[in-house]
Parts: sequence; C-alpha cells; structure tokens
Amino acid sequence: MRKLIYLTLIGLTSIACAGNESESNESETAKADSTEVVKVAHPEDDIDHHTLSNYTEVRTKHLHLDIAVSFENKQITGTATHTIENITGADHIDFDTKGLNIIAVTLDEGEAGEYTMGEYDELLGTVLSVKINENTEKVSIQYETTEKTEALDWLMPAQTAGKVEPFMYTQGQSIFTRSWIPVQGTPAIRITYSAKVTVPKNLMAVMSASNPVHKNETGIYEFDMPQAIPCYLVALAVGDLEFAEIDHRTGVYSEPSMLKDCAYELGDMGNMVNEAEKLYGNYLWDRYDVIVLPPSFPFGGMENPRLTFATPTIIAGDRSLVALIAHELAHSWSGNLVTNSTWNDFWLNEGFTVYFERRIMEAMYGKDYTDMLALLGYQDLMRTMDEETTDMQSLKLQLMSKHPDDAMSDIAYEKGYFFLRLLEQTAGRDNFDVFLKNYFDSYKFKTITTEEFRTYLVANLIEPYKLEVNIDEWMYESGLPDNCPQVISTLFNGVEANLEQFYKTNDVKKSIHASNWTTHEWLHFIRNLKEGTTPAQMAMLDAEYHLTQSGNSEVAAIWFEKSINFGYNKIDKELEAFLVKIGRRKFLMPLYTALAATPEGKEKAIAIYKKARPNYHYVSFNSIDELLGLK
Ligand SMILES: [Zn+2]
Repeated sequence: MRKLIYLTLIGLTSIACAGNESESNESETAKADSTEVVKVAHPEDDIDHHTLSNYTEVRTKHLHLDIAVSFENKQITGTATHTIENITGADHIDFDTKGLNIIAVTLDEGEAGEYTMGEYDELLGTVLSVKINENTEKVSIQYETTEKTEALDWLMPAQTAGKVEPFMYTQGQSIFTRSWIPVQGTPAIRITYSAKVTVPKNLMAVMSASNPVHKNETGIYEFDMPQAIPCYLVALAVGDLEFAEIDHRTGVYSEPSMLKDCAYELGDMGNMVNEAEKLYGNYLWDRYDVIVLPPSFPFGGMENPRLTFATPTIIAGDRSLVALIAHELAHSWSGNLVTNSTWNDFWLNEGFTVYFERRIMEAMYGKDYTDMLALLGYQDLMRTMDEETTDMQSLKLQLMSKHPDDAMSDIAYEKGYFFLRLLEQTAGRDNFDVFLKNYFDSYKFKTITTEEFRTYLVANLIEPYKLEVNIDEWMYESGLPDNCPQVISTLFNGVEANLEQFYKTNDVKKSIHASNWTTHEWLHFIRNLKEGTTPAQMAMLDAEYHLTQSGNSEVAAIWFEKSINFGYNKIDKELEAFLVKIGRRKFLMPLYTALAATPEGKEKAIAIYKKARPNYHYVSFNSIDELLGLK
C-alpha cells in the first residue's frame, strides 16, 4: 500500500542519513533527539495475534463467494463457501467477522451446521465458531454486511466523476476483510478464490482476479483467482466502469469521463512491468491492470493482485506521480508473492517494495530522478523518527493489542528501504540483485517472518560474501543506525541554492529558476520553506507560480500546509475544495493537523470537516475524528 503517512519537512539538507561530513548535521540532530535505544525481543512464536481464527489447526484453502451488491441498502448479501484443510483433526473452525450478520451455516452438500458467535472485541471483531468433523470439506456461511463495516465505501453519485451512478469499493488491508466476508483474517495463510457477483445492470464489477473488459446485460460477473493470496487482497469495486488497454497485458479501468486522462497518465505501465521483470524475475499474475477510483479512496494505491486500486490524485497530466504505480506493481513480488506472515513483519512487504519501486524508477527515468525520490523518502523518515515512540521504530514490531494499521509508518517503508540499500551497497548491486531474485523465487506464494528472512539473509548474502552488517540493530532496535546509506541529489542542491537566494534577495524572479523543475524539485522547495516565511513572501511565490491553483495534488497539499503554518490565507477557497473532494489520508492528516494548531484554525477545520466527512472512507474519518477530538 502507498501510503498513509505525512509528506513532511525537516531542515534544509540534500544528504540523507547520518555519517556524512558537514551537511549531515541535521540528521545527527534528529537522531540525537530520539530517546534511548529500545530493543525488540525476538518473538517466542510467529503466531498472528490479529486473528481470532484457529488457522494453525484448520484452514481455508479456497473461498467461493456468491454475493449481491445492493446500493439501495448499502449492503452485500450472500454466501461465502470455504473449502477447508483440517490439519490437526480439529472439531471446530473459527472465522473472523466484524459487523457482519450471520444468517445460516451449512456443511458440505447442505447439511445444517452448528455455530456460535463469540464476544465482540473492539479491535478484532467477533469469532464465528463452526462445529466440524475431520471429514468436513466445505463450510458455507450465509451472511450480510451492516453499516458497521470498515471495508466498504459506498459513494453517492455526487461523489463520483460521472455524477450519475453510485460507486462502491473495498479496502481489505490490514484486517478489514472480515467486515465484508467471514474469513480467517490472517496474512499467514493463502487462499485461492472464485466469485459470482450480482450488481445493478448498468454497473460493472471488478475484483483482484480475472476481470471483464465490458459491461454485460445481466449484471452478473464471475471471477477466478487461481493463485493463492492472503485474504487482505480479496477486493471488489463496482461502478460505471470502462476499460482501456495499454498493452497486451496492462490496462486501466475508470469511470468513462476520466478514462482518456487515466490511460495517458499510465501509458508507461507496460514498460514498467517489463523493467520489473528484468530486475527480479517473471510477473506471475497474468494481467496487470489498474482501476482509478473516485477521490474518496483513502490511500495512494492498494496492491490488489492483477488490479491495483489507485487514487485519482496521481492523475497530474504529466506522468509525474507514477512512482506510485511502480510501487503497487512492485508489490506483485514483495507483498503479494512473498507475504509478511504477521503485521509485525509489515516491513517485509513495504521496505522491499519501496526498494523495488525505486529500482524500477531508476531503470525507467534515471538515477537523478530516483535520488530525489529517495531523499524525499528520507525526509519522511526523519519526521517519523521524531514522532514515533521508540517501541515503534524497529523494523520488526510487537503490535499485540495495537491495530496493525499502526505499523503503516515510514519505519516499515523508508527505514526498510535504507536497510536494503545498505545491503546493496555492502554486497555490491550485482550480488544483491541475484540474492533478491532468488529470494522472491524461493518464497513465492509463501508467507515469511522477519526471523525466517534473517536466516535466509545470513545464509545467502552475509556469509557467502563475508559481509559485516549490523542486521540485528536494523531489525530489532529503535532509531536509525549510523551506517544508513547517504543519498546526494544534485538537483535538490540546485533547488536549495535558489531557496537561499530567495530569502537573501526577497526577489522571486531573480532568485528562482524553476522553468524546468520537476514535481519533486517543487516538493523539495516547498517542504524546505523556512520557519518564519512571511505571508507576503508566500504571496510573491504564489503570484509567480500559481501554487494555490496547482493541479498536482502533491504540490497543492504541501503548499496548503505551509500556507496554513505561515498564516497565508489566500488559499482558503481552494483548501476547502481540496479537503471536501479528496479523501486520501496522507493529504488530509497534515492539513487538518496544521489547521488545528490554532483555535481559529481548529474552528475552520471542524467547519470544513462537517462538509467533507461524508466523502471519506472509514480509515480516513476514523483518524480525523480522533485528531479533531470528535470521538
Ligand atoms: Zn506498499
């Protein structure tokens, strides 16, 4: 997934990570500020504590869904049939549910099943326990979703691009699938699935599976996912959709009015798959398509296999934000092919994916471009290090009673990335690439813990090449180790020189030479506007570069944040429109945080939020309710 966390700011520096001469002072300061090093003990077991199911005794192998989607009732109803494997001869199988009504349970060819529901747990939901015997092969659960669902987002026509038809999509990661399907809600086991989905006749359904390319007249769509996946990757979207092909194995779905723009923006996708294959082996999921969702989608992208779900905020008109697609595509190897066994090991999904994403971007757009991405990522990591408590700063986490979404910070993404970059630098790129390709091949369609990866790493990279790397410090300790690799971006150095000149001369035209700047140079520039920048200086920049009107969501979001911080209020109309339209949590959180920093700002935030909240998905409004003290 990409990406929950804030776009951020640290001091002016183009050097990532400590250990470098003069320019790295900022990094050293950031490190020194974090408190004492906290070690996370190696766990006693690799059990997933975020499921109530007994998956180590008996487990689902295949799931068949026969469901109907009702927009009138905002409800999914139907049957989930689990084909099971009884490993220990268990006399019951436990499923995770959350906010589901269970109507009936049958076994095998229709005999009535006995079941009980457990106590409701705020974090994990309610266990559904079904009596079985050792010969039971199938468990069918008739159920319906309720308004308490956390996975489903039901959009009114007004919230779509076309404004005529409603829209619905699911978000399964991390533990939300149980709120639209009764499942064993753990990434530790993999299932194949098939589905028959009935939707209103004028709409099309698509899933993380084999997909239709046209609407049909019946409103009934059938799906097959023959490759085994963790259940958080079962995904469904329903809307007024059309498909455009990009090449023989890639394409894009979106509402008709957006399709041309989406197909242009994602035009490089076929090449991206080719470059990814050259790096780390064949793409094993048949097709790679993307669906561009309405703006309420709370994330940048979600790597649902065969069909990435993506935010429309990447449609910038100039392909400048497609690193996000490289990220989701990379998950076809790290995450979807080789999956974290528990959410404590989330960095195995995300750190590897950020590394792979940047290698794809380097292959396609060059090293300068990728260095900028890495440095922006480093800035994110530094802010996260300042904000996260020390027990959440190690790669391996002990989440236990915490929500797994708490693991979705830049520690997993960027600290994970810099660890792999260190391994690459230490072993040499060629050796590391061979190692990584073999790793994906050895663990394909499997799940893995940090400890299993550690063993594999030592046996296949550290020992053969006699490397000395502090791998336990990286994996199990808080803070950022001193040997974090450094990234230097000459392009960003140029931006910083312009910025310095601007503050010296107070003259936009003389100091800033931005005609060839990429989005990333602009992001670096705006992020590094100094504390104490005056509203008049902001107005000068705005008059010259029209940043308040930027159609690039990344640029607009950071510009709005800085404007709020510096008391530049010529953005109010555009800020409100942005917050009401867009539901991507990465943008919302910093903006509401900045507004809420003053009493007047907080009033403004609450007024805007009242209008905007109905447009947001659960994962976004859940966070913002808390931020604004509304729950
Ligand atoms: Zn991701």
